[in-house]
Amino acid sequence: MSDLVTVTESGLYCAMGDFYIDPWRSVKLALVTHGHSDHARMGSQRYITHKDGQAILRYRLGEIDVTGVDYCQVLQLGGVKVSFHPAGHVLGSAQIRIETDKGEVWVVSGDYKAQYDPTCPGIEPVRCDTFITESTFGLPIYRFNEGDTVACEIVDWWEKCKAKGQVAMVGAYSLGKAQRLLASLPDLAGPIYVHGSVAAINSIYQGAGVTLPAWTHLTSEHKADKLAKEGALLVAPPSSIEGPWARRFAKRQEAFASGWMLVRGRRRMRSIDRGFVLSDHADWPGLISVIAATGAERVLVTHGFSDPLVRYLSERGLNAATLRTAYGDEEAPEAAPDASPDASIEVASESANLLSDGVS
Ligand SMILES: [Zn+2]
Repeated sequence: MSDLVTVTESGLYCAMGDFYIDPWRSVKLALVTHGHSDHARMGSQRYITHKDGQAILRYRLGEIDVTGVDYCQVLQLGGVKVSFHPAGHVLGSAQIRIETDKGEVWVVSGDYKAQYDPTCPGIEPVRCDTFITESTFGLPIYRFNEGDTVACEIVDWWEKCKAKGQVAMVGAYSLGKAQRLLASLPDLAGPIYVHGSVAAINSIYQGAGVTLPAWTHLTSEHKADKLAKEGALLVAPPSSIEGPWARRFAKRQEAFASGWMLVRGRRRMRSIDRGFVLSDHADWPGLISVIAATGAERVLVTHGFSDPLVRYLSERGLNAATLRTAYGDEEAPEAAPDASPDASIEVASESANLLSDGVS
């Protein structure tokens, strides 16, 4: 039996349905799991995505031909039935289920997480024969606290910044991470300002019915001293905090919110004041539990720590293999784990110890 989804030079391709999923080159029909730039790229003739992701794709890709569908809505594309299912990653994120008329089912996950996120529906694992999974945090060292625990850490740090008359500046990726972080904060914790790229996505989220605390789009009208006196929290993409944009705030503390903050080498490498471990990707227990819940006997592993995950799954009797794709972590390159020799060494040595005990 030939594979229902294969890797081509344009991306993941389903020949029976004549469509691509998250293609990295221009194609006729692109099914898009979510709006991050490594999954949603310009130049295709037609796009299909979840309806909550439509505005995100238009904001990022311009005037495109995009159809929005509901979760579980079944489309007949060529010889296969296709449906989108919640992935719990960011607003509108979906796993894509493909079924042949002989009843064979494949699911392409895109990116996903198992943890609670107030800004999007939680993942619903889908039964399938073959599951194509990401592996961004596919090492047993990656175990994340829930978002509300991290929010408490952020509020505590923010209070300390306020007491020192400093702006609390937190770097969070502008699509998904920033909104999840904001939505986790208690009401009236203090004035919140956001970078323009975060403001644009905030508005899309609120347009889709997501509740966020009050925020103000930071412009050049807002004076740095005033924000410091107010004890403001400022949310911006990490690239802005690392660049000249942030330097007008003489009185500031800098933090980043990322799953990579779990690795000590990453924190040492940067001159930041705090790292908050918050990710929109599944941690190791999340990957294992979702893969198990699909019931898939065959698992194809894309971007991330694919080789350790493939080894773990193979040792447990699954037919697992790596699938080379062009996907990455949306926070890359600044958060790529191999950017830090320290981090790589720590990850390699810790994983060697932990791979053997797996998860319960
Ligand atoms: Zn993503």
